[in-house]
Amino acid sequence: MRFSPAIHGLRNSRKAIQPDAPPKRCRGGVYEATNQIFDFHPDWLSHTLANASADLPPETKTALPDGTQVSRKANGGVLWLTPPADRANPNQEALIISAGVHGNETAPIEVLNTLVSELFSGGDWSLACPLLLILGNPPAMVEGERFLDVNMNRLFNGAHGKSEYSRLAEGRRARFLEEMCRQFAMAHQGLALSHYDLHTAIRPSKRERFALYPFVEGRSVPAGQCAFLLEAEVETLLLQHKESTVFSSFTASTLKAESFTIELGKVEPFGRNDLRRFQGIERALRRRFRGGEAAPAVRPPFDHLTVFEVVHEVLNTGPSFRFHVPDDVANFTEYQPGTVIWRMIRTTTGSEPRRRRWCFQTGRCLWASGWV
Ligand SMILES: [Zn+2]
Repeated sequence: MRFSPAIHGLRNSRKAIQPDAPPKRCRGGVYEATNQIFDFHPDWLSHTLANASADLPPETKTALPDGTQVSRKANGGVLWLTPPADRANPNQEALIISAGVHGNETAPIEVLNTLVSELFSGGDWSLACPLLLILGNPPAMVEGERFLDVNMNRLFNGAHGKSEYSRLAEGRRARFLEEMCRQFAMAHQGLALSHYDLHTAIRPSKRERFALYPFVEGRSVPAGQCAFLLEAEVETLLLQHKESTVFSSFTASTLKAESFTIELGKVEPFGRNDLRRFQGIERALRRRFRGGEAAPAVRPPFDHLTVFEVVHEVLNTGPSFRFHVPDDVANFTEYQPGTVIWRMIRTTTGSEPRRRRWCFQTGRCLWASGWV
């Protein structure tokens, strides 16, 4: 279990993938684009895993039979898709969707791979809006690890440039992903930009799916974004209280995107996810990709969002810090007033007694940590 130095107090403020499968040659016109972009691997994910440490050309382009332009960047893991200029974009939007920033959080990766395969198969729907799809950390995905050297979701908003990170593969990848997002946003100025960074949680949670809204001064969550979250069966929203170095904070603060980190369930290895539990996000993303104009009417139990905001942050300040919430306690666990959450022990020399400073939580409060 990794210890998170920051533990946040919250207030309820308002109402099957085979990575090692051998490349398979596709035949027929609809497979031409797949073969060009994915080099005869059966899909995006298998190509990305097979080339996680390869040295491929910086860009490979093709077009789908319906005219959608596809550009695969660097070693795979990044697809930039552009519909034909004469196709309607009813929502006047551009989307950035990322998964696999933590390499072992596989279910959202499988969801994106499914949607890409649908698009490439030339089936029931066509892409209506520009789309940047990102698999964040392919080398960690291959290893089935959250990360290799450093948690990549702490390296955005320029943190990758710090001397301790800049030479690490994850630092270079974070810088590359920021640059891809910048270029995408610049290319589609005038369209509403949204970014959904998809994760699964490493610790249990009383609320299975929840989204985090990065802090940007003066911002409030648009109703359309709330409707999208409910459509994706995400019923809990946590408002961040300050800018951070997570991916969604970068796109929100630097690119002015409507950005969310979305936690969709529990970490499982590739092929072991119960993808029925991820149908909500898959359906909701498919609707956005195809330009469906409005989220469907809400239905119980996903008919309202419970919104939390951070009211207090506890920092581990060193050896004298004692934290009384065990590592395996589920996120969004509720504690009774008066529960000791943390304390500091200060020891002095001489005749002074050992002094302790206690912290009591006095209000209704929920505690969570380690969520991104
Ligand atoms: Zn994650």
